[in-house]
Amino acid sequence: MSDERGLTTVWVWGDQLDGRLAHLRGRDPGRTRVLMVVSDRKLIERPWHHQKVHLVVTAMRRFAARLESDGFAVDLRRAPSMRDGLAAHVDAFDPGEVVAMEPASRLGTRTLAELGVTLVDNDHFLCHWREFATFRAGRGRTTMEDFYRWRRRETGWLMQDGEPVGGRWNLDTENRRPPDADIAPRAAADPPVIDVLDDVDAGLSDWLPDTIVLTGDAPDGMWATSREGALERLERFTTRVLPRFGDHQDAMVTGAWHLNHSLLSHALNLGLLHPREVIDAVVEQYAAGAAPLNAVEGFVRQVLGWREFLWGVARTADDGYPTRDALGADDPLPPAFAGDAPTAMRCVDDTLTSVRQHAYAHHIQRLMVLANLATLAGVRPDALTDWMHGAFIDAYDWVMVPNVIGMGTFADGGEVATKPYVSGGAYIDRMSLDYCRPCRYDRTKRTGEDACPFTTLYWDFLDRNRDVLASNHRIGRAYANLDRLGDLDAVRARAREVRERLAAGTL
Ligand code: SF4
Repeated sequence: MSDERGLTTVWVWGDQLDGRLAHLRGRDPGRTRVLMVVSDRKLIERPWHHQKVHLVVTAMRRFAARLESDGFAVDLRRAPSMRDGLAAHVDAFDPGEVVAMEPASRLGTRTLAELGVTLVDNDHFLCHWREFATFRAGRGRTTMEDFYRWRRRETGWLMQDGEPVGGRWNLDTENRRPPDADIAPRAAADPPVIDVLDDVDAGLSDWLPDTIVLTGDAPDGMWATSREGALERLERFTTRVLPRFGDHQDAMVTGAWHLNHSLLSHALNLGLLHPREVIDAVVEQYAAGAAPLNAVEGFVRQVLGWREFLWGVARTADDGYPTRDALGADDPLPPAFAGDAPTAMRCVDDTLTSVRQHAYAHHIQRLMVLANLATLAGVRPDALTDWMHGAFIDAYDWVMVPNVIGMGTFADGGEVATKPYVSGGAYIDRMSLDYCRPCRYDRTKRTGEDACPFTTLYWDFLDRNRDVLASNHRIGRAYANLDRLGDLDAVRARAREVRERLAAGTL
C-alpha cells in the first residue's frame, strides 16, 4: 500500500460498494486512498446470520481488491469500532481530508458529521431524502402509492403521454393469485445462481471477533459478493424469472423458498447493483415483449416505490421512531424466532426454516406470517426489528425500522400503513398451497386445543386494541364481525394460553 501522506481519504462503508456512486465517481486513484473498516462493535451488537456476515465482509474484501486493481491505495482494516478504525487510519496516513458518502442510516450520518468527515449526498437511492421531505411537506398524510405515482411521473418509467402505461398505476389485483400446483416445479426449473466459495471465503474468520454470535446455516454461495455475481443474478431474474414474477407474488409453498422472487435485494442494498440499472433492465423486458405488465409494474413498484419510500421515512422520522409502540405491545420475541424452540405451526416453521437455511423469506412470509404473528401476540416491535435486522440477508437499519415499525406491526400508529397488516389463518390458507391442511392446528377454529393460533389471536388482537383501532374505517368491518362473536370470553382465554405457550416455546 502507498504510504504517501496527504492524499484524500474516501471512507467507503460496507453498503456503498459501487465505484459509480458519489464518493468515488471521478476520483483520481493517484490522489485518493480508500478506507474501509470492519468494525468488531458492529459484529457483536446482535446475533447475525452467518450468511449475512459472510456476504458483507466478503463483498467488502472483493471490492477492496477491485479498487486496488483500478490503482487505488486501499486501507481495509479491522478495528474495535468505526471511530477507532478512522483514528488508526489518520494516525497511519495523515490524510489531507476524509470524505464519505452520507451513510444510509441517520445514525451513521451523525457519527461521520461528529468526526469531521466531509459528506457528499447519498446517490445510492433515486430520490434523496430531502427531496422526499419536500414532496411530503404540506401534503398531510402521504402514502407509498402517492409517492410512487409521483416518482413514475418524475422518472418517466412505465409512462406514456403523462399517463401510466396500460392505463393503471397499480396492477396488484393481478399479482395476488393463490398458488397453483405447478408453481414450485416452475420455480425449481430456474434455480438461483450459486457461486463456488473460494479462498477469500475461507479467510473470513480472520475478520471476526471471538465473541461474535453467528446464527443460521453456513454460507453456500447463494448471495452475490461481487458486482459480477450481482449482474449474473440480475440477468437470471430479468430473462427467466420476471415473466412469472407477478401472478403469484404473494404465494407461499412449503420448501419453495424463493419461488419467483428476484433475490436481488441483498445486492441492491450493498451497492453491488444500482436501482436505476435494475429498473431499466426490467422495463426493457416489457418493451421487448418478454415480460407482462403486471410482473414489470409490480417489480418497479417494489424498487421505485417501496424501497425509496421506506428510506425517505427512515431518514425523516423523529428520533423516537425506532422504538414507537402505538399498540403498547411488550412481550419478548418468542424463542421460535431465534431457533430456540420448534413450533407445530407449519406456516411459521416453514418460514423460519427458510430464514435459517438462506437468511431469507419473501415479503409476504415476512409480513403476513412473522410480523403478523408478532403483532397479534403483542411482541415488542423493536425486538422484532432487532431480530429481523440480524436474520435477513438484505436487512439494514434504514429498511428494517420502517418495515417493522410502520408496515409490519403498526407501531407508528398509521404513518406508513393505513391499517394493521394482520389476519387469521384463513388468509394464510388462501395464499399458501399446503401450509394449513397438514397442520396440527385448524385454521377455521378460534377456540379449543387445536384452534389455529393466528385465528384465535386475530380476534383477541382486535378486542385488546379496540380503543386504538375501532375508529379506523379500513378495519371497521372486522369490528362488526368481532361484535357478532358469541364466544369472545373463550377466545380471550384461549388467546392467553396461546401467548403463554408461544413465549414458552411450546406452541
Ligand atoms: Fe399456520 Fe394456522 Fe395454517 Fe397452521 S392452520 S399453517 S398455524 S395458519
